Amino acid sequence: MTLNERTRCPICNSKEIATFKKGNFTPDNIDSGDFKITDSRYGSLWNFFFCKNCSFVFSNPYIPEEHILKFYSELDDKEYSLEADGRSKNFRLILKRLRKIQKPGNKILDIGAASGIFLNIAHKEGYNISGIEPSDFLVKEAKKLYGINLFKGTINDFKTSENFSVITLLDILEHLVNPDKFISKIKDLIKQNGILVIVTPDINSFTAKIFGKRWWHFRIAHINFFNLKSIDTLLKKYGFEIIKKKRYAWHFSSFYLITRIFPSLKNKKTLQKILKLIKFKLQLFDSWEIYARKN
Ligand SMILES: [Zn+2]
Repeated sequence: MTLNERTRCPICNSKEIATFKKGNFTPDNIDSGDFKITDSRYGSLWNFFFCKNCSFVFSNPYIPEEHILKFYSELDDKEYSLEADGRSKNFRLILKRLRKIQKPGNKILDIGAASGIFLNIAHKEGYNISGIEPSDFLVKEAKKLYGINLFKGTINDFKTSENFSVITLLDILEHLVNPDKFISKIKDLIKQNGILVIVTPDINSFTAKIFGKRWWHFRIAHINFFNLKSIDTLLKKYGFEIIKKKRYAWHFSSFYLITRIFPSLKNKKTLQKILKLIKFKLQLFDSWEIYARKN
């Protein structure tokens, strides 16, 4: 696979870029399995650069967008929905905070909707829902599990005359080759005063710093990283103002956590039943949950 080089920061266009961390795998034999949401092979790093101006961290050289899209469209992530309870808990908290900013009953668009867990809850809470998801498998899962029809593809193919009051990007930005182009498209899909909700890892977090290369967000699917400064730079560029931010906490069953560390235990059915009953709230202070308003 031929990778592309960058000579400028893809967010602020500055030439002042330098090596951040050296990569530690050969991109030649990666496949769609490496892009699973539930991938537990942490510690895989692209060769990362950072921008001295806006502090955005990005893979350089980087994998061309058409390869990434192919991987996501072929993605088959059977484990994702197994952890629907924990994920629902995360998503309910987001909707609760959103309600304080904006009344439900509006149109919400979830991009990278996976199997529709978030949209299913949003629908129950009175939102008019739409979702975009590139994986054929996950689009079928959403239909099968919740009766939700997602648009199969990406924001590039999504044609609509609608405007949305809320757009959610839950763990999406770190997967994109070109987050700048992506946010410029979001700007056209969202209403004036609409709310953009972003959850993304924070490369500047204390957790990221102490774990170094072993930080659990270093995995093949994560091709770039933000901190508060770089995300604010990107959002401001397209007329968004951050109105609320907080540290995102993850809710997991102990089954999910333990099989991250010991993948071979995944097939132990009895153990699965017991461990799924034990729930965890994991607050590592290493992701941002951001609410931004379009001005
Ligand atoms: Zn920059």
